[in-house]
Amino acid sequence: MMDASTDGFHFSKHFHVTDGFLYCEGVRIKSLQDSLEDVLDQPSPFYVYSKQQLADNIDAYKSTLEKLGIKHLLGYAVKANYNPWILKTVRDRGCTAVTVNGHETQLALDTGMIGPNIIYNGNGKSRWELELAVDNECMIGVDSEFDLRHIADNVHPYLATGIGDSKFGLEDKLLNDLLPFIEDDVYLNLVGLHCHLGSTIDNLETFSQCLDVMLDKIEYIKKKGFDNVQYLSMGGGLGIDYKIHETIPSPVDLINRVKDRMRMNNDLCLMLEPGRSLVGSAVLLITKVIGCKKNRNKKYIVVDGSMTEVIRPSMYGAYHHLELVEPTQNVCKQREAFDVVGPVCECADFLGKDRWLVPPHEGCGLAVFDVGAYCASMGSNYNLRVS
Ligand SMILES: *Cc1c(COP(=O)(O)O)cnc(C)c1O
Repeated sequence: MMDASTDGFHFSKHFHVTDGFLYCEGVRIKSLQDSLEDVLDQPSPFYVYSKQQLADNIDAYKSTLEKLGIKHLLGYAVKANYNPWILKTVRDRGCTAVTVNGHETQLALDTGMIGPNIIYNGNGKSRWELELAVDNECMIGVDSEFDLRHIADNVHPYLATGIGDSKFGLEDKLLNDLLPFIEDDVYLNLVGLHCHLGSTIDNLETFSQCLDVMLDKIEYIKKKGFDNVQYLSMGGGLGIDYKIHETIPSPVDLINRVKDRMRMNNDLCLMLEPGRSLVGSAVLLITKVIGCKKNRNKKYIVVDGSMTEVIRPSMYGAYHHLELVEPTQNVCKQREAFDVVGPVCECADFLGKDRWLVPPHEGCGLAVFDVGAYCASMGSNYNLRVS
């Protein structure tokens, strides 16, 4: 928990509080709120994107990999946030894209990504989605025997670039069954192995053990004569510091953990597929306080932002840091425990529970932190809300 005063507090290089006002890239959020009120009928809530924070997050991966001389592709997982502006920014900074369906593939293409820089994963691939990927020479991730046979049946007579998927769960026996199938099919070209361990991973040992398994499998496959195998994808899943200043591993820590083994296998290109750790910390949701209320022993702050913009608390009980964007005009400036809830007709519509906040005045701005990943992209129009 943060201490009683967050004044002068730097959440990161680009978000800080000075004299009780929250700033993003030197812009006072309260001023932004005021100017939106002048031009929009319904100016609240809104997301604030920090391009510099996004750039820093990309750089944490890219410059470390470049410095170490590790061949790599940094594939942004589009599903985390498909705002075209984000896609342009990641593309301009040398990232590739990881998509889970044809719509995301099309968006990546529309943003100017070339097919070979797009990896299309997903466990149910429709014919149009495969055709789009194959026509544009995207890499296609195969996630099961079912998926492989389905792709092979659908892509003829096009040329497909297949990329096998391996997890701890993919048995060697299954791999052995699949390899001859790929070998016999002139349209399939095995170029690498892929894994994705999960989400919000804060333990590098998981990645490290997986790397050993993957390197073993790649060696095995190469011995079988698959000479085009050149990519090793470790997927995404690195967590971020939602709780503010917790020690969780950074992208630099992750890369340092795998660097020696990647350098020993310097014919391989390391693919990473982060979503959350690129965009998560670059976005705030700015809401307005509708009022405070009390039920029995609990105090609530009701805001105009809700689960339709930030569903992670309702869905996973996830924690997002909350902060007033301006000093309170209330006489009482003592922090108290509040549940911060939205106006949607669902008990689960909350943004935070038991948060120590200064009681805000009506109309005060309240920011929800780290909403760049899996918030806007999971947004909804429930209750006819505009999103
Ligand atoms: C969702 C997903 C990612 C991104 O995961 P993050 O937790 O956002 O880093 C990467 N690769 C694949 C295959 C995914 O499905």
